[in-house]
Amino acid sequence: MTGIPDALEQLRSTLGEVLRFDGGARLSDDDLITAMRALESLGRLIDAHRAAFAGEVGERSRAELGDQRLSTRRGCRSAAELVERVTQVSAFEARRRISLGSATRARVGFSGESIDPEFPAVAAALAAGELGSDAAGTIIRELDRARSHADRLAFAAAEQALVAEALGRGDGGPVRCTSDELRVQAQAWSTFLDQDGREPDDERAMRRRGLRLGRARDGLIPLSGELMPEVAARLTRLFDAHLSPRAGLGFHTDDERASFAESGEQRTADQQRHDVLAAALDTAARSGEHPTIGGAAPTVLVSVRAADLAASRGVAHADGVDLPISLRAARHMICTGGTQSIVFDDDGRVIRLGSPERCFTPHQRRAITVRDGGCLIPGCSVPAAWCEIHHVIPDADGGPTHPDNGVLLCWFHHRTIDTSGWGIRMQRGVPHIRPPAWLDPGGGWRPVTKSPTRLADQRDRRREKQPAA
Ligand SMILES: [Zn+2]
Repeated sequence: MTGIPDALEQLRSTLGEVLRFDGGARLSDDDLITAMRALESLGRLIDAHRAAFAGEVGERSRAELGDQRLSTRRGCRSAAELVERVTQVSAFEARRRISLGSATRARVGFSGESIDPEFPAVAAALAAGELGSDAAGTIIRELDRARSHADRLAFAAAEQALVAEALGRGDGGPVRCTSDELRVQAQAWSTFLDQDGREPDDERAMRRRGLRLGRARDGLIPLSGELMPEVAARLTRLFDAHLSPRAGLGFHTDDERASFAESGEQRTADQQRHDVLAAALDTAARSGEHPTIGGAAPTVLVSVRAADLAASRGVAHADGVDLPISLRAARHMICTGGTQSIVFDDDGRVIRLGSPERCFTPHQRRAITVRDGGCLIPGCSVPAAWCEIHHVIPDADGGPTHPDNGVLLCWFHHRTIDTSGWGIRMQRGVPHIRPPAWLDPGGGWRPVTKSPTRLADQRDRRREKQPAA
């Protein structure tokens, strides 16, 4: 089989000679169209083999092979990574090829006999170079939704009908479907097969549930998916609890009521739900009940150049996400999670490793929680358990990681503390805040807490000062 790579290389150079790269500028209209059709047919054949080879890589990298997986032996975490590295395609394209190749490769039975591919009609049309890989992928993806509960014969008939349509041999006449037209037909078949199924809704839902982080665009990562109804219900309750208006929950002081009334929530409901999720994730990571990664709690690493941080320019990077994060976001995460300085020399070698600055300990957190009771910003109803601890004097400016220098803020108010205009300072260990000028022109500093015990103290003291009636 060593002949195949050589033959392919020869083919490539011949093709280069035949198709001098001028985009068909020398061709007549008719020849341009004819050549494009012929080129596509060649491309389909090549695509089919690309998918088949990727499927073979997938097969040799299947999980049960353990250390003997081809991907592992080549130092990759998965078959898709191996395909990516060899071909330089995107992760998405690598996975697409592997799943197409897997669904259309002949399988081997327990006693070594050959079994038809999962999608035999698609496989045959692909191998013949008649069916394009995107059309093949569409048929497989749509029919797969109905596979587990469709009648076998009906399933096979649907596959054959769709391949026939794609090749211009079906009921629709001699015209080949485009890939988009084929998708509409495949969806119709999938729905039809679905109706035949006796699978309870619950099982179908279990199979279809999912959550996906998309590719970054416009500086954001899109999130999409399908939740099980009971999970959606819990999430909805969580959102409702935090989005419900504070009215009626009782303000402890007139000042608080006034500043809430004036503050007027600036965020949209979508934005508030985002912030609730951020707090929930932070709370979960802090709970200490999650699998550790390399012996440490699942903490996000953020790296930033010290010079950039000092000069407030440039960007930082959070591991696990390709999109750079802003320095403001980095400062926020550093304030919450602590820092460790690592110094590199010009060649990139680590030459100094600072000792990690501790985050607030659970002891300190409890003390701060009892003192502050929740997010310090008036009108904000995020409870203590969902808050982050903000270094009032930043760590970088020498602010200690001590309860006298830490206050509770929710994710949103922490993230925006530099720009929102709210002032926070500590006086003998007691947090004081000053509203932004737009909210309270000429406003001064006042002590603040949401701790029920400290509020009770304040009430008692006020009562003692009042003369008995
Ligand atoms: Zn808040």
